Amino acid sequence: MVLDQGIEVEAVNCLTPFCLCSGKKGCGHEAKRATDRFGVKLKIFNISTEYIEVIKGPRYGYGKNLNPCIDCRILMHRKAKEYMRNTGASFVITGEVLGQRPMSQHRAALKTIERESGLEGLILRPLSARLLPPSIPEKEGWIDRERLLEISGRSRRPQMALAARYRIVDYPCPAGGCLLTDPGFARRMKDLMAHCEITLNDIQLLKSGRHFRLRNQAKLVVGRNKEENEALLRLAKRDDICLRPVDVKGPIGVGRGYFDQTTITLASQIIARYSDGLPDDKVSPVKGPVPKGVRIAIEDLASRKKDLIFVKGISNSQLEAFRI
Ligand code: SF4
Repeated sequence: MVLDQGIEVEAVNCLTPFCLCSGKKGCGHEAKRATDRFGVKLKIFNISTEYIEVIKGPRYGYGKNLNPCIDCRILMHRKAKEYMRNTGASFVITGEVLGQRPMSQHRAALKTIERESGLEGLILRPLSARLLPPSIPEKEGWIDRERLLEISGRSRRPQMALAARYRIVDYPCPAGGCLLTDPGFARRMKDLMAHCEITLNDIQLLKSGRHFRLRNQAKLVVGRNKEENEALLRLAKRDDICLRPVDVKGPIGVGRGYFDQTTITLASQIIARYSDGLPDDKVSPVKGPVPKGVRIAIEDLASRKKDLIFVKGISNSQLEAFRI
């Protein structure tokens, strides 16, 4: 819409570890595809490190889960302002819609974001512009307010109709927020924040597998399928331990933190719980009837030293006490 008014536009994309579009090609790929289509230059800011600080104590609080939407948008708008100043651009355009998101897109929140990012009067929101006070670009006549829209509310239908008008068909799902709005992910993230200094690797690890807090300083992540097992192995760090069943099919587990013998046994019991079937006689370390159990290999990734342990799978009721 803004290009249609003959205005020169460049795009800014902020990457965080919580984007939902971080498939194999990554979020930057989606933004690049969109900007290429319109012949618009793209600047990508990776704000992951700053974002972690925001999540720890957002000035404007959290939404329903761990989503600090107002602080998040302030940070992104500050990046846009930085780029605006560096490139000599005159104002910032966003796709925000009045009333679309309960926390960050009501009138007061839009005002707060504008003020806190130092962009007062300089944010143009073409989709809702005619419902909002005129911005500087409208007052100055750089852009024709009459050709802007008055969309509001939670329905995405008008935006989808607009997209169809511009022949945009392959856009991401227009509803929902980032991973921080997901209750399960938020729970795991809160657990992480309560127990250690967070790294980007820790956050990536939250995206795969089942998570268990075994003790204050030790957690176990168990893959749910082949892709997750591979992801866990890629993310495992030197200080981690890796667990896997030896004689039967089963998941990979990555243990992070301090693991004494009791914790290693517990982690092995969890891996055994998710492993297939029973081992053959030959894997049982005891004579006589085969006890229900699985042989688990535990590898210290720093020393590459391996140990074997024979354990029974933990019961479902015991397991739940450790699930994050
Ligand atoms: S849903 Fe996530 S990315 Fe979107 S504004 Fe909220 S915190 Fe930021």
